[in-house]
Amino acid sequence: MSRAAISVVLLVEDNLGDARLIREMFNEPGLTAAELIHVQRMSEAERYLEQNTASLILLDLGLPDAHGLEAVQRARAAAQHVPLVVISGLDDESMALQALQQGAQDYLIKGQIEPRELQRSLRYAIERKYIEETLFSEKERAQATLRCIGDAVVTTDILGNITFLNLVAEEMTGWTLQEAMGRPVAEVFYIEDATTHAVVPSPLERAIALNQTGHLPQNCVLIRRDGFELPVEDSASPIRDHDGLATGAVIVFRDVSAARVMTEQMAYAAAHDFLTGLPNRLLLNERIQQAVALAKRHSYKVAVLYLDLDGFKHINDSLGHSMGDKVLQSVAKRLITCVRTPDTVSRQGGDEFLVLLSEVEHPDGSAIVAKRMLNQLAKAHVIDQRELYLDVSIGVSVFPDDGQDAETLIKCADIAMYQAKENGRKNYQFFTPAMNARAMERQSIEENLRRALERREFEVYYQPKVDLKNGTITGAEALLRWTHPTLGSIPPSQFIPVAEDCGLILPIGAWALREACTQAQAWRDAGLSEINMAVNVSALQFRDPSFLINLFKTLSETDMDPRHLELEITEGVLMKRAEFSSSILKALRDKGVRVAIDDFGTGYSSLSYLRKFPLDALKIDQSFVRQTTMETDETTIVRAIIDMGKNLKLRVIAEGIETDKELAFLQANQCDEGQGYFFSQPVPAKDFGELLTRTSSHLHKDPGAYRTMNRPRFPQFVFKRF
Ligand code: C2E
Ligand code: MG
Ligand code: MG
Repeated sequence: MSRAAISVVLLVEDNLGDARLIREMFNEPGLTAAELIHVQRMSEAERYLEQNTASLILLDLGLPDAHGLEAVQRARAAAQHVPLVVISGLDDESMALQALQQGAQDYLIKGQIEPRELQRSLRYAIERKYIEETLFSEKERAQATLRCIGDAVVTTDILGNITFLNLVAEEMTGWTLQEAMGRPVAEVFYIEDATTHAVVPSPLERAIALNQTGHLPQNCVLIRRDGFELPVEDSASPIRDHDGLATGAVIVFRDVSAARVMTEQMAYAAAHDFLTGLPNRLLLNERIQQAVALAKRHSYKVAVLYLDLDGFKHINDSLGHSMGDKVLQSVAKRLITCVRTPDTVSRQGGDEFLVLLSEVEHPDGSAIVAKRMLNQLAKAHVIDQRELYLDVSIGVSVFPDDGQDAETLIKCADIAMYQAKENGRKNYQFFTPAMNARAMERQSIEENLRRALERREFEVYYQPKVDLKNGTITGAEALLRWTHPTLGSIPPSQFIPVAEDCGLILPIGAWALREACTQAQAWRDAGLSEINMAVNVSALQFRDPSFLINLFKTLSETDMDPRHLELEITEGVLMKRAEFSSSILKALRDKGVRVAIDDFGTGYSSLSYLRKFPLDALKIDQSFVRQTTMETDETTIVRAIIDMGKNLKLRVIAEGIETDKELAFLQANQCDEGQGYFFSQPVPAKDFGELLTRTSSHLHKDPGAYRTMNRPRFPQFVFKRF
């Protein structure tokens, strides 16, 4: 069907006079282009249409072989898509009107047909047929769409009675279109609240009443005809007429069972730790808040325990992550056995667990739980036929004493846990306000440390190491100094541990090393006697995978002779991962860099390793040196260390010599070198340079001159018995 010009008109008319009149009209301007085919009977017309097509049929309703509506029906059947104009007698106009209902597009009355009227009617019929066909195909397309879409669709009239259900709606409601037709929508689309089972009014009625799109409230279920409940979501819109007024409504809804299950799973996953299945921090926070609210009402206490596993990282690194995961699962199980049902064991990620004890009558109660946990976790974890041992450090905070909300309580427990770790691990600590002050100080140090390097707040001081036999300066230990613009000078004992904790020791340590090497070269270039430069290396630096590369790069860039560099590393660092340490020490030895064990005697050393490690020197910790003048066991220890060092062919250096008595003792016991305030405090590079200049120039002439020479600038710099 198209709106193209009228080309062929089929006239079905038995009256030849009438037919002639019409043919004449086709000679009038406007219709001349059209071809008129004339037949006298319906049967002839049918035959013609079997073979040919026409752009319009002009049909007389009084044919000998078809009369009235029968003629209309047969014409429709023969050419369904061809526009039809009927011609009736003056007395038969009602028949013509019926013909319109049966599908004719227009009618003409015999005796009143004018050329212009005929033209108008033909064009109108074609136009109308075109619109009808278009509407039909659009309706077809809409119906097909509704049949195919996965959503259920229900439409109603203005009264809210059903006019349409698509297939999905039929399935979901349990009603067929036929059964549902004309029934009130609330009967077919019956909605309840999933929890309360209260009836929810149909959104259609609202959509019609308000003449706007609406939705069901959340958490609704559709009650199917057989009583089965389906979680649904919907949207309902009014259907409007030309004036925008509602004439009915359409509701589109879908089964959201799968989506709801998924939402529930996601909600669970968001609140739980995937590895252990324990609640995570989010859920714990909520539970702490609830417990605190309840405890306020019943005036009892709530305790939060922060647990950190000691040695877990080692298991993870050496035995692999899957072993690490199993250990965490084993820990989770044991922790659960230590608490009661209302309590919550949660995992924070990594090797940290938080436990909420929600009803504590007395803090002793939480101490008992903490002890139980220490005992439980200390037992061997048997995993893949291996026995693994772990310790735990626990910090405890208590509501209302330490905080009123989850965040504060967790923070306090965390601080207390750090204290427990510092107290030697494998123990628990209750939070105290003093701990908080310390933690805040650490925090402030950390924040300031971050900017200290770029603001050039660091400086390296140098402390001489002296040959105890002849008083010559054999080397210098580079010691970091930090001067903050407002906080003043902050001692290394305060900032080095913080820098180690937060990783800043890596850039800071690298800077100190470069500075020391550059300085050593500057003194050599100035022609001063060549000395060994000792630089401290912390655990984190030593284990940094790029430690060696960076070190060698610094040596070559500063042109420093590796044989003049000595790294001071504490025994704890070396013993922790002995195999790894061994390989690094070997690489250093190959390059010519020397290594001294710092603070010797304070940690736990294994003699067998000491023998295997390629080392150069032992530094006796100053705590032993301090005791040498008293006749205590410590003197024996110092003697033993010196002897041991000699047996291992290591240089022995005594740290922290302050008095001539200490010096005398060490000299008497053949200690090789010494360092301490007795000789000199750590001093800035410039002062140390001057010291080197003087000692260099006086050395050959009068060794005894140091004593007096250095007094004014370095009051303690005196040598005895050279
Ligand atoms: P350490 O390596 O054992 O350094 C010796 C410490 O003893 C220095 O403390 C030094 O000033 C101090 N000292 C020297 N002679 C005496 C004495 O006669 N009496 C007393 N009471 N103390 C004496 P300082 O400079 O405060 O450094 C403390 C620690 O900080 C160092 O211990 C070292 O472990 C660390 N440190 C210092 N600078 C660096 C650095 O550049 N890198 C790294 N990783 N650690 C550093
Ligand atoms: Mg040192
Ligand atoms: Mg030391």
